[in-house]
Amino acid sequence: MHREPDGAIRVDESKCIGCWTCILACQFGAIKRGDNHVALKCDLCPGLEVPACVAACPNDALVLAEDLDADAEILPEVRKAQ
Ligand code: SF4
Ligand code: SF4
Repeated sequence: MHREPDGAIRVDESKCIGCWTCILACQFGAIKRGDNHVALKCDLCPGLEVPACVAACPNDALVLAEDLDADAEILPEVRKAQ
């Protein structure tokens, strides 16, 4: 598990031994056991200009942001739009 220059935290499948320590450590439950016995998590859809989940959300509830203070920056915008 490592952070890449674009800020995304990704799994190097060639190094993962499926020990699941990262699953225990993640407080958000964002890492799963993959079918191929390596850790599986969001990789921010490299190669796509807009991540698939953001593009698919019908209500603009998802945004891709960096170093975000969600309470300060996103919620007021969402409230304004309501
Ligand atoms: S399961 Fe998670 S902690 Fe274990 S080797 Fe793979 S990425 Fe690292
Ligand atoms: S669709 Fe969304 S949650 Fe899934 S990998 Fe892409 S950015 Fe991550």
